[in-house]
Amino acid sequence: MKIEILAVGSELLSPFFQDTNSLYLTRRLNDLGLDVTRKTVVGDDFEELSGAIRAAAAGSDLVLIMGGLGPTGDDITREACAEALGRPLVFKEELLVRIEERFKRRGKVMPPSNRTQANLLEGAEVLQNDNGTASGQWLLYGKTRLALLPGPPRELKPMFEAAVWPKLQDWRKGATKRLAFKITGLTESEVEGRIADLYPKIPELRLTILSSPGQIEIHLTSFGEEGAGGAAAALEILGGEIGRRLGDHVFSSAGEELEEVVGRLLGEGRRTLATAESCSGGLLAGRITNVSGSSAYFLEGFITYSNRAKSARLGVSEDLILARGAVSPEVARAMAMGVRIQSGADYGLAVTGIAGPTGRTPEKPVGLVYTALAWDGGEDVRRNLFLGGREPVKFQSAQKALDMLRRRLIGAGTI
Ligand code: AMP
Ligand code: MG
Repeated sequence: MKIEILAVGSELLSPFFQDTNSLYLTRRLNDLGLDVTRKTVVGDDFEELSGAIRAAAAGSDLVLIMGGLGPTGDDITREACAEALGRPLVFKEELLVRIEERFKRRGKVMPPSNRTQANLLEGAEVLQNDNGTASGQWLLYGKTRLALLPGPPRELKPMFEAAVWPKLQDWRKGATKRLAFKITGLTESEVEGRIADLYPKIPELRLTILSSPGQIEIHLTSFGEEGAGGAAAALEILGGEIGRRLGDHVFSSAGEELEEVVGRLLGEGRRTLATAESCSGGLLAGRITNVSGSSAYFLEGFITYSNRAKSARLGVSEDLILARGAVSPEVARAMAMGVRIQSGADYGLAVTGIAGPTGRTPEKPVGLVYTALAWDGGEDVRRNLFLGGREPVKFQSAQKALDMLRRRLIGAGTI
C-alpha cells in the first residue's frame, strides 16, 4: 500500500510557513496502521504541480493533495490535476449556489473569481467544506484514489475527518496503540544506554526516541489487533519495562508537559510557589502560568535582571553579589530564599545564569546556569552547563528549575 502526500503552495517553500497538514494526515494514517511512503512539497507552478500529480497518481494507491483550491490566480491544483490525469473540469451549478450562499450569509456578494471553485474533475465526488468555499474532491484514477483537500488546517481537518476518514476504513491494519514517555534530567545517550536492548524486533511494534534540549521523549507505537500475544500486548510489556528502567526521570507518560505535572502536584498538596528569574527572563513563570488553574498555586514571579533588582525585590545582599557575582550558587540560593520570604509561598524557585552569546568570562561560560529551590527548612542549588543558543538555554533553565521542584514534591532524590 503506497501512500503519497502532496502539499501545494509556494509559501511552503519559503522560510516562513511549514507544511503542518501532512503531519496531521500522517498521524491519522498511522492510526489506521498505514505508513506514508512519500511526501512532496510543490510550489504554485503549473508544470511542476501537474508533473508531481502525474507521478504520484502513477505510483501510489492513495494520493492526498492539499492546498491550491482557493479562488485566486495562484490556486491551480484543480487545473493541474485535470491536466495530469487527462480529466476535464466540469462546472457544477450546485457548487456555485453553495458558495454564493456562503457569501450571502455574511452579507456579501460573491466575487467572480470564486466561480472556479465550482469546477469539479469529471467523475469526482464532492467533499463538502463546512468551513470555507473550497470543496474537496475524491476520485478514482485507475486503481489510484486521490483526494484534493483545502490548505487551511481548520478546513482540511474537519473535511478529512468527515469525508475521507470513513473511506479509508477498508485499509485499516488493526488498531494502533501509542505510549509516550517524557523524560528530563538524562541525555539522549543515557536514555539510549538504558533501553538499547529493548528495541522491538517486530515491525508491528515501533520505538522512537525524540530528543530536544532539556527533554527526551520515547514513543511506542503498536499496530494490530488487541489480545494476548499481539503487538498491543507487547507494547504494554515494553512500556512497563521502560518505565522501570527510567524510573523518576520520566515525568509523564500521559502526555503532560512538565509545568502541568508540577502544577498538578502543587495543587494536590495545596502548596504555593513563587519564582525569581534572571537569565530565563520570565520563561519559568510563563510556562507555569500556561497551565489553566495555575492561580491556585502560583503567587508571583519576579524578573530580576539587574543586580539592583535582585537586591531591591528579593533582598539579596549587595555585598554577596559583589563578592560572588550575580551568576553564583550563593546568589541563586539567596534569590530562591528571598522570593519565598517576599511572597509567603511554600516554595521559591530561582534561576540565574549566562544565556549568551555575550557575557561570558573564563570562569563563567555561556550556558552556566544556577537553579535553586527553597522550601520551609531548606534549600538546594544546582550548577548546570547547558548547550545551545539563548532560547535553548532559557528553556533548559526553566526545565531544570521545574524538575527540581517536581523531584522535591514526589520525594525523589536530587540529580
Ligand atoms: P490554499 O488552499 O493554497 O489557498 O491555502 C491557504 C492557506 O492554507 C495557506 O496560506 C496556508 O496558510 C495554509 N496551508 C496550505 N497548505 C498548508 C499545509 N500543507 N500545512 C499547513 N497550512 C497550509
Ligand atoms: Mg496556496
